[in-house]
Amino acid sequence: MRIVIFSFLLALFFLVLPSAKPINRMPAKQLKTIVIDPGHGGLDPGCNGANEIWEKAVTLAVSLKLGKLISDSLEDVNVVFTRNTDKFVELWERPNMANRIKADLFISIHCNSNVNTTAAGSETYFMGLHKTQGNLDVAKRENAAIKFESNYKTNDRYGGFDPNSPEGHIIFTLVQNAFLQQSLKFSSLVEAQTNKISRIKSRGVKQAGFLVLWQAAMPSVLVETGFLTNTGDRGFLKSEEGQKTIAKGIFRAVRQYKKDLEKAFASKGGESSKRTDDSSAVQR
Ligand SMILES: [Zn+2]
Repeated sequence: MRIVIFSFLLALFFLVLPSAKPINRMPAKQLKTIVIDPGHGGLDPGCNGANEIWEKAVTLAVSLKLGKLISDSLEDVNVVFTRNTDKFVELWERPNMANRIKADLFISIHCNSNVNTTAAGSETYFMGLHKTQGNLDVAKRENAAIKFESNYKTNDRYGGFDPNSPEGHIIFTLVQNAFLQQSLKFSSLVEAQTNKISRIKSRGVKQAGFLVLWQAAMPSVLVETGFLTNTGDRGFLKSEEGQKTIAKGIFRAVRQYKKDLEKAFASKGGESSKRTDDSSAVQR
């Protein structure tokens, strides 16, 4: 019976969502534009850390530090933020902004949360079907942010996605994604590089269905920088030093990813395609 229901839902999915995926680009050969997406913001505070700090504050602080490191050190890279103040940005608009300016990499920054306060560590996700209930739970919690959008039920951008339905979270991960290889590679670099310098241990690279990654037409990852519900992680995530260290780890991953991408392309002897930027996006 379950298989029948799932098949029905799958059929429904392809009927309802055929135009949901705008991907028609090949993976970039160079890293010219990076979109940094500080999770949550404004009326959506994200998860809470023992009434000491909200996720939205940590994600913004880490994102701004990461953006500055990239701008200061990689002069040929353009950094764009989906938000650079405490404001609400709808989930669909975040990857949409990256698509509009043809970004080469999308990095969404978040903090984790769990009723088990001993759960600790960082995880970097890329789009795909979750392998554990824990991974699904993380995606469900992050995707629940759309409930702050008054019109999400009628917004075509979400194709009828229901954040309360377990099947909904599974179905929308079944879309082909041309950027999985590079997303996996960058995710691995983020975990490896942050783990080298951060006090927060790595829980590894994972996959789950995140709405914020779903429509991104470029390699894209979601970094769960640590657990705000864990005393040790929270102390680090709250501190200037901790935020700087995490930003530095992600920056090193960006630097390495760029180097590897350009080396691979140079060995093939090609040139990158021209890009045009959309000045309506938040830029620095
Ligand atoms: Zn979040």
